[in-house]
Amino acid sequence: MTVRTPLPLAPADALTEAERTRILAKSAIFAPPAQTDEQGRQDLVGLSREELTEAVVGIGEKAFRAKQIWHWIYHQGARDFAQMSSIAKPMQAKLAERFTISRPEVTTEQTSTDGTRKWLFRMRDKQQVETVYIPDDDRGAVCISTQVGCTLSCRFCHTGTQKLVRNLSAGEIVGQFMAARDSYGEWPSPQSETRMLSNIVVMGMGEPLYNYEATATALKIAMDHEGIGLSRRRITLSTSGVVPMMDRAGAELGVNLAVSLHAVTDELRDEIVPLNRKYPIKELMAACHRYPGATNARRITFEYVMLDGINDSEAEARELVRLLHGLPAKVNLIPFNPWPGSPYATSKRAQIERFATILNDAGYSSPVRRPRGKDIMAACGQLKTESERAKKAPAPATAA
Ligand code: SF4
Repeated sequence: MTVRTPLPLAPADALTEAERTRILAKSAIFAPPAQTDEQGRQDLVGLSREELTEAVVGIGEKAFRAKQIWHWIYHQGARDFAQMSSIAKPMQAKLAERFTISRPEVTTEQTSTDGTRKWLFRMRDKQQVETVYIPDDDRGAVCISTQVGCTLSCRFCHTGTQKLVRNLSAGEIVGQFMAARDSYGEWPSPQSETRMLSNIVVMGMGEPLYNYEATATALKIAMDHEGIGLSRRRITLSTSGVVPMMDRAGAELGVNLAVSLHAVTDELRDEIVPLNRKYPIKELMAACHRYPGATNARRITFEYVMLDGINDSEAEARELVRLLHGLPAKVNLIPFNPWPGSPYATSKRAQIERFATILNDAGYSSPVRRPRGKDIMAACGQLKTESERAKKAPAPATAA
C-alpha cells in the first residue's frame, strides 16, 4: 500500500490556518478559571462525553457509568448524585466526594408582560452574564452568552461598552440553557418536538467565535441525542464575522448561521462593526457562500440594526440585495434599542418599511423584529451594567 503524503496547503489556506491558530491562542489568554468548587471537586457539566468517561475511569469506575451519568445530567436534569437511582448508593457517595453538577447561580430573574424572561447569572468566580428566553406560541428560544463582556466594541451595542473580562467555559455556556430549563421545569428532556425551550440562539454577550472551543463543546452537548437532544436546525450561532472560524464552525457544528452585518459598505461597517477592518465585507460574504448546509430551507440570517440616517436609506437596501445575490438568506431588521449614552437613534417606522419592501420585493424575507421584553431590558448587556452600578453605589442608610 502506498502512503500518500498530504498535499501542502495552498498559500491562502495556510494563511487562514495561521489566523485560526492566532485566534485560538488569544482566546486562551481569557480562559475561564478551573471548573472546580472550594473543596476541589470537579464540575461534570461541560465535559465532553470523552472527558466525562476519562473522569469516571480516573476514579476507578467502569466507562459505562459515564453513559449513565450523562443521561442523568442532560436528559433527567439531575443536580445531585443522590437522584441517580440506577447507580448504587456507595457509588453515588463516591461520585459526590469527587465531582459536582453545577448551574450558574440566579442573581436576578425578571419576566416581562410579554412572557420574555431574563436572567442575570453569577458564575463561581462571581462574574455575571445575561441569558434571555423569548417565547413564541408553542416554542421559544434561549439566547445565551459566551463571554463576560466583549472585545469587539460594535458601536450600537451596549455589551460592547463592557471590556472583555474572560471567556465562559463550556459548562457555563450550556449551563445557562440548563438553568433556563430548571426555571420552566422542562426536565426530563422532552422527546417530542413540542417543548417550550425549543431553540438556542448564541447571540448574547460576547463573540462566540472568539471563544470557539468552549462554545463548540457546549453546542455539541446540547445536540447530543442522549441528552438535551436539540437538533442542529434548532441552534443558531451568531457572529460579527470572524471569517477563519466560520469555516471551522460550519465543518464541525453545521448549526444555523447568523451574521451581524449592519452596513453594506466597508467604510460604514469599519465604523460600526470595527471587526470589519480585519475581515471586510467581501471576505465575509465569501465565507457565507462557503458555509455548508445553507439552503432555502436553512437560510443564513443577516442581522441589520436600523439606525436613523446612518444605514437605512433605500440605496443601502438595494446594495444589500446586491450583496446577498446567490445566497439563501433572510434579513432580520432590528429597530435600534437606545441605551444611555448610545450615539444613535432608531430609524423611523416608515423608513424601516421602505427598506423591508425593497428586500422583500427582491425575494428576501425581511421581518422587522418586534421589540421583546421592553419592560425588563432596554438593551442586551444593560442588566449586568445596572447590577454593577447598584453594587458600587453606597448602601442605603437603614432606619434606626
Ligand atoms: S454586537 Fe456582539 S460582537 Fe458586537 S460588541 Fe456587542 S456583543 Fe460584542
